[in-house]
Amino acid sequence: MFNAEAGISDDKWEALTETVFTENASNKYLECYICQEEFNNGNVLKVLGCSHLFHKDCIRPWFDQRDTCPLCRVIVQ
Ligand SMILES: [Zn+2]
Ligand SMILES: [Zn+2]
Repeated sequence: MFNAEAGISDDKWEALTETVFTENASNKYLECYICQEEFNNGNVLKVLGCSHLFHKDCIRPWFDQRDTCPLCRVIVQ
């Protein structure tokens, strides 16, 4: 069911932590759940409150229609 009220506000979007991915031993094989591509050096990511990471460009359209993390379904505060 489409819910016109869904999605997050621009304020919430702006408040989400933004980071540039730098590859290292501990995060080398992390991938974006939405596009299923591994993160590469220099990718711009958004970090949700649940610590899950997504490409900024991938998660933006997701948040137009939903307000939850694609992975764990935690609602974005
Ligand atoms: Zn992605
Ligand atoms: Zn999550």
